Amino acid sequence: MDIEIVLDDADSLICHRCGRAALLVVRVPTVMRMGSGQVSGRRTVELCSHCDRNEVSAQGVLAYFSVYERIDREAVDAAGPVLREWLDYLVANPPRYTDSDMDQEIRDWESGEM
Ligand SMILES: [Zn+2]
Repeated sequence: MDIEIVLDDADSLICHRCGRAALLVVRVPTVMRMGSGQVSGRRTVELCSHCDRNEVSAQGVLAYFSVYERIDREAVDAAGPVLREWLDYLVANPPRYTDSDMDQEIRDWESGEM
């Protein structure tokens, strides 16, 4: 599974850590353990100029996107190398599930959103 970059409705991209507008939202493939089996899924990761300001892997992409008011497909394509650096980091260090994340995913799944 590849990383999916979510751009469709930029106004609804909200950072769930701080509630500010997120620069970019990506969905990263992950594998989670459920009982004795493993389930492949995706975790949503927001790039936030506030929350990620100290994230080393995100420095390039944050600097790049700081000149854009609105990030569209063209900007993302042009971001190539700096975006890749951040995405590579996400793939190598997939977001971990907390219990509350897991509860939310299960609720989403049960309500048919996944
Ligand atoms: Zn944030």
